[in-house]
Amino acid sequence: MSSIALPRLAFAHLPTAIEPMPRLSAHLGGAHLWVKRDDQTGLAFGGNKTRKLEFLLAEAQAHGARSLITWGAAQSNHCRQTAAAAARNGLACQVVLRGGPTEPVTGNVLLDQLLGAELIWAGERDPGEVAREAFDRAWEQGRRPYMIPFGGSSPTGAAAYAAAIGEFLNQGVSLDRIVLASASGGTQSGMLVGARMYGFEGRITGISVDQPASTLQQLIASLATQTASLLHQDATFEPADVDVNDRFLGGGYAVMGELERGAMRTFARLEGLILDPVYTGRAAGGLIELLRDGDIDRDERVLFWHTGGTPAVFAYAEQLKVGA
Ligand SMILES: *Cc1c(COP(=O)(O)O)cnc(C)c1O
Repeated sequence: MSSIALPRLAFAHLPTAIEPMPRLSAHLGGAHLWVKRDDQTGLAFGGNKTRKLEFLLAEAQAHGARSLITWGAAQSNHCRQTAAAAARNGLACQVVLRGGPTEPVTGNVLLDQLLGAELIWAGERDPGEVAREAFDRAWEQGRRPYMIPFGGSSPTGAAAYAAAIGEFLNQGVSLDRIVLASASGGTQSGMLVGARMYGFEGRITGISVDQPASTLQQLIASLATQTASLLHQDATFEPADVDVNDRFLGGGYAVMGELERGAMRTFARLEGLILDPVYTGRAAGGLIELLRDGDIDRDERVLFWHTGGTPAVFAYAEQLKVGA
Protein backbone atom coordinates (compact mmCIF):
# COMPACT_ATOMS: atom_id res chain seq x y z
CA MET A 1 0.00 0.00 0.00
CA SER A 2 1.34 3.42 -0.90
CA SER A 3 1.57 6.19 1.63
CA ILE A 4 1.32 9.97 1.48
CA ALA A 5 4.92 11.16 1.31
CA LEU A 6 4.36 14.89 1.86
CA PRO A 7 5.54 17.08 4.73
CA ARG A 8 2.82 17.46 7.31
CA LEU A 9 2.39 19.05 10.73
CA ALA A 10 0.48 17.11 13.36
CA PHE A 11 -2.23 19.08 15.14
CA ALA A 12 -5.44 17.29 14.17
CA HIS A 13 -6.93 14.73 16.55
CA LEU A 14 -6.66 11.63 14.37
CA PRO A 15 -8.04 9.16 13.65
CA THR A 16 -11.49 10.70 14.00
CA ALA A 17 -14.12 8.34 15.37
CA ILE A 18 -16.53 6.30 13.27
CA GLU A 19 -19.86 5.72 14.98
CA PRO A 20 -22.96 3.79 13.94
CA MET A 21 -26.26 5.72 13.81
CA PRO A 22 -28.73 2.96 14.74
CA ARG A 23 -31.62 5.19 15.79
CA LEU A 24 -31.42 7.24 12.61
CA SER A 25 -31.15 4.06 10.49
CA ALA A 26 -34.24 2.60 12.17
CA HIS A 27 -36.18 5.85 11.80
CA LEU A 28 -35.45 5.98 8.07
CA GLY A 29 -36.08 2.24 7.56
CA GLY A 30 -32.46 1.67 6.33
CA ALA A 31 -29.76 2.00 5.14
CA HIS A 32 -27.03 0.97 7.60
CA LEU A 33 -25.75 4.40 8.54
CA TRP A 34 -22.44 5.43 10.06
CA VAL A 35 -20.88 8.81 10.72
CA LYS A 36 -17.20 9.81 10.58
CA ARG A 37 -16.57 12.59 13.04
CA ASP A 38 -14.41 15.10 11.19
CA ASP A 39 -16.41 17.69 13.12
CA GLN A 40 -14.10 16.60 15.94
CA THR A 41 -10.67 17.15 14.42
CA GLY A 42 -9.67 19.05 17.53
CA LEU A 43 -8.70 22.48 16.22
CA ALA A 44 -11.00 25.31 17.42
CA PHE A 45 -14.30 23.39 16.96
CA GLY A 46 -12.85 21.15 14.23
CA GLY A 47 -13.94 20.44 10.68
CA ASN A 48 -12.52 19.18 7.40
CA LYS A 49 -10.15 22.13 6.81
CA THR A 50 -8.01 21.02 9.77
CA ARG A 51 -6.74 17.96 7.91
CA LYS A 52 -5.88 20.06 4.85
CA LEU A 53 -4.13 22.64 7.01
CA GLU A 54 -1.73 20.04 8.43
CA PHE A 55 -0.26 19.79 4.92
CA LEU A 56 -0.71 23.44 3.95
CA LEU A 57 1.05 24.69 7.10
CA ALA A 58 4.01 22.42 6.35
CA GLU A 59 4.14 23.98 2.88
CA ALA A 60 3.91 27.48 4.40
CA GLN A 61 6.78 26.69 6.77
CA ALA A 62 8.88 25.38 3.89
CA HIS A 63 8.37 28.79 2.24
CA GLY A 64 9.54 30.55 5.41
CA ALA A 65 6.09 32.08 5.98
CA ARG A 66 5.46 34.32 8.96
CA SER A 67 1.83 35.13 8.14
CA LEU A 68 -1.14 33.48 6.43
CA ILE A 69 -3.83 35.02 4.25
CA THR A 70 -7.03 33.38 3.05
CA TRP A 71 -10.59 34.28 2.17
CA GLY A 72 -14.15 32.98 2.26
CA ALA A 73 -17.78 33.63 3.11
CA ALA A 74 -18.59 35.67 6.24
CA GLN A 75 -19.28 32.47 8.21
CA SER A 76 -16.34 30.63 6.64
CA ASN A 77 -15.27 27.54 8.57
CA HIS A 78 -12.13 27.48 6.46
CA CYS A 79 -11.09 30.98 7.59
CA ARG A 80 -11.75 30.09 11.25
CA GLN A 81 -9.65 26.93 11.10
CA THR A 82 -6.90 28.78 9.21
CA ALA A 83 -6.89 31.46 11.93
CA ALA A 84 -6.56 28.72 14.56
CA ALA A 85 -3.78 26.90 12.69
CA ALA A 86 -1.92 30.21 12.35
CA ALA A 87 -2.28 30.98 16.06
CA ARG A 88 -1.12 27.52 17.02
CA ASN A 89 1.96 27.76 14.84
CA GLY A 90 2.93 31.31 15.79
CA LEU A 91 1.95 32.95 12.50
CA ALA A 92 -0.04 36.13 11.95
CA CYS A 93 -3.27 35.71 9.98
CA GLN A 94 -5.45 37.89 7.75
CA VAL A 95 -8.83 36.63 6.63
CA VAL A 96 -10.82 38.36 3.90
CA LEU A 97 -14.56 37.83 4.32
CA ARG A 98 -17.29 38.37 1.75
CA GLY A 99 -19.59 41.35 2.28
CA GLY A 100 -19.64 43.65 5.30
CA PRO A 101 -19.68 43.20 9.06
CA THR A 102 -22.93 41.80 10.45
CA GLU A 103 -24.45 42.15 13.91
CA PRO A 104 -24.41 40.39 16.23
CA VAL A 105 -20.81 39.20 15.98
CA THR A 106 -21.27 35.45 16.35
CA GLY A 107 -20.34 31.99 15.08
CA ASN A 108 -17.17 31.80 13.02
CA VAL A 109 -16.67 35.59 12.89
CA LEU A 110 -16.53 35.74 16.68
CA LEU A 111 -14.05 32.86 16.68
CA ASP A 112 -11.89 34.56 14.00
CA GLN A 113 -11.64 37.55 16.35
CA LEU A 114 -10.89 35.44 19.41
CA LEU A 115 -8.16 33.63 17.48
CA GLY A 116 -6.50 36.95 16.76
CA ALA A 117 -6.95 37.05 12.99
CA GLU A 118 -7.16 40.42 11.28
CA LEU A 119 -10.56 40.59 9.55
CA ILE A 120 -10.82 42.37 6.22
CA TRP A 121 -14.35 42.81 4.85
CA ALA A 122 -14.46 42.71 1.05
CA GLY A 123 -17.67 44.74 0.76
CA GLU A 124 -18.87 44.76 -2.84
CA ARG A 125 -15.56 43.41 -4.11
CA ASP A 126 -14.47 39.87 -4.90
CA PRO A 127 -12.84 38.58 -1.70
CA GLY A 128 -10.25 36.56 -3.64
CA GLU A 129 -9.06 39.74 -5.34
CA VAL A 130 -8.96 41.62 -2.05
CA ALA A 131 -6.91 38.76 -0.58
CA ARG A 132 -4.39 38.96 -3.44
CA GLU A 133 -3.97 42.68 -2.77
CA ALA A 134 -3.52 42.02 0.94
CA PHE A 135 -0.89 39.44 0.00
CA ASP A 136 1.06 41.96 -2.13
CA ARG A 137 0.93 44.56 0.64
CA ALA A 138 2.07 42.06 3.27
CA TRP A 139 4.89 40.97 0.98
CA GLU A 140 6.08 44.57 0.48
CA GLN A 141 5.96 45.09 4.25
CA GLY A 142 8.28 42.12 4.73
CA ARG A 143 5.68 40.01 6.54
CA ARG A 144 6.46 36.84 4.54
CA PRO A 145 2.83 35.99 3.75
CA TYR A 146 1.67 32.62 2.49
CA MET A 147 -1.64 32.36 0.60
CA ILE A 148 -3.81 29.50 1.79
CA PRO A 149 -5.97 28.60 -1.24
CA PHE A 150 -9.76 28.98 -1.21
CA GLY A 151 -11.22 26.21 0.94
CA GLY A 152 -7.71 24.80 1.35
CA SER A 153 -8.38 23.12 -1.99
CA SER A 154 -5.01 22.90 -3.73
CA PRO A 155 -3.47 19.51 -4.50
CA THR A 156 -1.48 19.83 -1.25
CA GLY A 157 -4.65 20.41 0.78
CA ALA A 158 -6.61 17.72 -1.05
CA ALA A 159 -3.84 15.17 -0.35
CA ALA A 160 -5.02 15.22 3.29
CA TYR A 161 -8.25 13.53 2.22
CA ALA A 162 -6.39 10.87 0.28
CA ALA A 163 -4.68 10.14 3.60
CA ALA A 164 -8.06 10.22 5.36
CA ILE A 165 -9.32 7.36 3.15
CA GLY A 166 -6.34 5.30 4.31
CA GLU A 167 -7.24 6.19 7.90
CA PHE A 168 -10.85 5.14 7.50
CA LEU A 169 -9.99 1.83 5.79
CA ASN A 170 -7.79 0.99 8.79
CA GLN A 171 -10.81 1.45 11.05
CA GLY A 172 -12.28 -1.74 9.63
CA VAL A 173 -15.86 -0.66 8.80
CA SER A 174 -16.95 -2.09 5.41
CA LEU A 175 -18.95 0.33 3.34
CA ASP A 176 -20.75 0.65 0.02
CA ARG A 177 -20.81 4.43 -0.06
CA ILE A 178 -19.55 7.66 1.46
CA VAL A 179 -21.80 10.74 1.40
CA LEU A 180 -20.34 14.21 2.02
CA ALA A 181 -20.94 17.91 1.46
CA SER A 182 -18.89 19.18 -1.48
CA ALA A 183 -18.09 22.84 -2.22
CA SER A 184 -14.55 23.84 -3.25
CA GLY A 185 -13.97 20.18 -4.08
CA GLY A 186 -10.74 19.47 -2.20
CA THR A 187 -12.30 16.98 0.16
CA GLN A 188 -13.99 14.88 -2.52
CA SER A 189 -10.95 15.11 -4.84
CA GLY A 190 -8.66 13.81 -2.13
CA MET A 191 -11.09 11.00 -1.31
CA LEU A 192 -11.17 9.90 -4.96
CA VAL A 193 -7.38 9.76 -5.07
CA GLY A 194 -7.26 7.91 -1.73
CA ALA A 195 -9.87 5.43 -2.97
CA ARG A 196 -7.63 4.56 -5.96
CA MET A 197 -4.48 4.41 -3.83
CA TYR A 198 -5.90 2.24 -1.09
CA GLY A 199 -8.45 0.26 -3.08
CA PHE A 200 -11.74 1.56 -1.70
CA GLU A 201 -14.41 0.44 -4.18
CA GLY A 202 -17.52 2.07 -2.73
CA ARG A 203 -19.20 5.12 -4.20
CA ILE A 204 -18.24 8.60 -3.05
CA THR A 205 -21.31 10.82 -3.41
CA GLY A 206 -20.78 14.55 -3.09
CA ILE A 207 -23.85 16.63 -2.31
CA SER A 208 -23.14 19.94 -3.99
CA VAL A 209 -23.60 22.91 -1.71
CA ASP A 210 -23.32 25.73 -4.23
CA GLN A 211 -22.52 24.68 -7.80
CA PRO A 212 -24.19 22.82 -10.68
CA ALA A 213 -23.04 19.21 -10.86
CA SER A 214 -21.24 19.59 -14.21
CA THR A 215 -19.10 22.49 -12.94
CA LEU A 216 -18.19 20.70 -9.73
CA GLN A 217 -17.48 17.39 -11.50
CA GLN A 218 -15.03 19.13 -13.83
CA LEU A 219 -13.32 20.95 -10.99
CA ILE A 220 -13.01 17.79 -8.89
CA ALA A 221 -11.75 15.63 -11.78
CA SER A 222 -9.05 18.18 -12.55
CA LEU A 223 -8.03 18.69 -8.90
CA ALA A 224 -7.99 14.91 -8.29
CA THR A 225 -5.74 14.39 -11.31
CA GLN A 226 -3.33 17.07 -10.04
CA THR A 227 -3.42 15.63 -6.54
CA ALA A 228 -2.64 12.14 -7.83
CA SER A 229 0.30 13.56 -9.74
CA LEU A 230 1.61 15.37 -6.64
CA LEU A 231 1.48 12.00 -4.85
CA HIS A 232 3.29 10.27 -7.74
CA GLN A 233 0.25 8.18 -8.54
CA ASP A 234 -0.36 7.19 -12.10
CA ALA A 235 -4.07 8.04 -12.08
CA THR A 236 -6.27 10.44 -14.00
CA PHE A 237 -9.90 11.35 -13.40
CA GLU A 238 -12.69 12.38 -15.75
CA PRO A 239 -15.85 14.27 -14.79
CA ALA A 240 -17.80 11.03 -15.34
CA ASP A 241 -15.74 9.42 -12.53
CA VAL A 242 -17.06 11.99 -10.06
CA ASP A 243 -20.43 11.37 -8.38
CA VAL A 244 -22.03 14.74 -7.59
CA ASN A 245 -25.66 15.45 -6.84
CA ASP A 246 -26.94 19.02 -7.27
CA ARG A 247 -30.61 18.44 -6.50
CA PHE A 248 -30.40 20.09 -3.08
CA LEU A 249 -29.12 23.58 -3.85
CA GLY A 250 -32.43 25.07 -2.67
CA GLY A 251 -32.22 28.84 -2.35
CA GLY A 252 -28.45 28.82 -3.00
CA TYR A 253 -25.27 28.88 -0.94
CA ALA A 254 -25.79 29.41 2.78
CA VAL A 255 -29.56 29.81 2.41
CA MET A 256 -31.01 27.44 4.98
CA GLY A 257 -34.38 25.93 4.05
CA GLU A 258 -36.68 23.20 5.33
CA LEU A 259 -34.33 20.50 3.98
CA GLU A 260 -31.42 21.63 6.14
CA ARG A 261 -33.48 22.50 9.20
CA GLY A 262 -35.29 19.15 9.10
CA ALA A 263 -32.05 17.18 8.75
CA MET A 264 -30.42 19.15 11.58
CA ARG A 265 -33.33 18.39 13.92
CA THR A 266 -33.47 14.71 12.90
CA PHE A 267 -29.74 14.10 13.47
CA ALA A 268 -29.80 16.06 16.75
CA ARG A 269 -32.89 14.40 18.18
CA LEU A 270 -32.10 10.82 17.15
CA GLU A 271 -28.32 10.72 17.50
CA GLY A 272 -27.32 13.75 19.59
CA LEU A 273 -25.32 14.99 16.60
CA ILE A 274 -25.06 18.66 15.65
CA LEU A 275 -24.93 19.46 11.92
CA ASP A 276 -24.38 22.89 10.39
CA PRO A 277 -26.91 24.89 8.35
CA VAL A 278 -24.73 25.42 5.24
CA TYR A 279 -22.86 22.18 4.44
CA THR A 280 -23.62 19.12 6.55
CA GLY A 281 -27.30 20.04 7.03
CA ARG A 282 -27.71 20.17 3.25
CA ALA A 283 -25.72 16.96 2.69
CA ALA A 284 -27.67 15.10 5.40
CA GLY A 285 -30.96 16.38 3.98
CA GLY A 286 -29.81 15.10 0.59
CA LEU A 287 -28.90 11.73 2.06
CA ILE A 288 -32.35 11.37 3.62
CA GLU A 289 -34.07 12.30 0.32
CA LEU A 290 -31.89 9.90 -1.71
CA LEU A 291 -32.89 7.12 0.68
CA ARG A 292 -36.59 8.01 0.46
CA ASP A 293 -36.45 8.06 -3.34
CA GLY A 294 -34.64 4.71 -3.49
CA ASP A 295 -31.52 6.26 -5.08
CA ILE A 296 -29.69 4.82 -2.09
CA ASP A 297 -30.63 1.21 -1.40
CA ARG A 298 -32.13 0.18 1.95
CA ASP A 299 -29.44 -2.43 2.52
CA GLU A 300 -26.47 -0.22 1.58
CA ARG A 301 -23.82 0.48 4.20
CA VAL A 302 -23.41 4.26 4.07
CA LEU A 303 -20.95 6.52 5.85
CA PHE A 304 -21.99 10.12 6.34
CA TRP A 305 -18.67 11.99 6.51
CA HIS A 306 -19.35 14.85 8.95
CA THR A 307 -17.17 17.72 7.72
CA GLY A 308 -17.88 20.10 10.62
CA GLY A 309 -19.16 23.67 10.42
CA THR A 310 -20.99 23.55 13.73
CA PRO A 311 -20.08 27.09 14.97
CA ALA A 312 -22.29 28.48 12.18
CA VAL A 313 -25.31 27.11 14.07
CA PHE A 314 -25.20 30.18 16.29
CA ALA A 315 -25.28 32.57 13.33
CA TYR A 316 -28.59 30.94 12.29
CA ALA A 317 -30.21 30.93 15.74
CA GLU A 318 -33.15 33.08 14.67
CA GLN A 319 -34.04 30.59 11.92
CA LEU A 320 -33.34 27.49 13.99
CA LYS A 321 -34.91 28.20 17.33
CA VAL A 322 -38.10 26.37 18.25
CA GLY A 323 -41.10 28.21 16.84
CA ALA A 324 -39.12 29.87 14.04
C1 LIG B 1 -15.46 23.61 3.47
C2 LIG B 1 -16.52 22.70 3.99
C3 LIG B 1 -17.03 21.65 3.21
C4 LIG B 1 -16.67 21.45 1.77
O1 LIG B 1 -15.38 20.93 1.60
P1 LIG B 1 -14.65 21.20 0.20
O2 LIG B 1 -13.35 20.53 0.34
O3 LIG B 1 -14.55 22.70 0.08
O4 LIG B 1 -15.50 20.65 -0.87
C5 LIG B 1 -17.96 20.80 3.77
N1 LIG B 1 -18.40 20.98 5.03
C6 LIG B 1 -17.94 21.98 5.81
C7 LIG B 1 -18.49 22.12 7.17
C8 LIG B 1 -16.99 22.88 5.32
O5 LIG B 1 -16.55 23.87 6.10
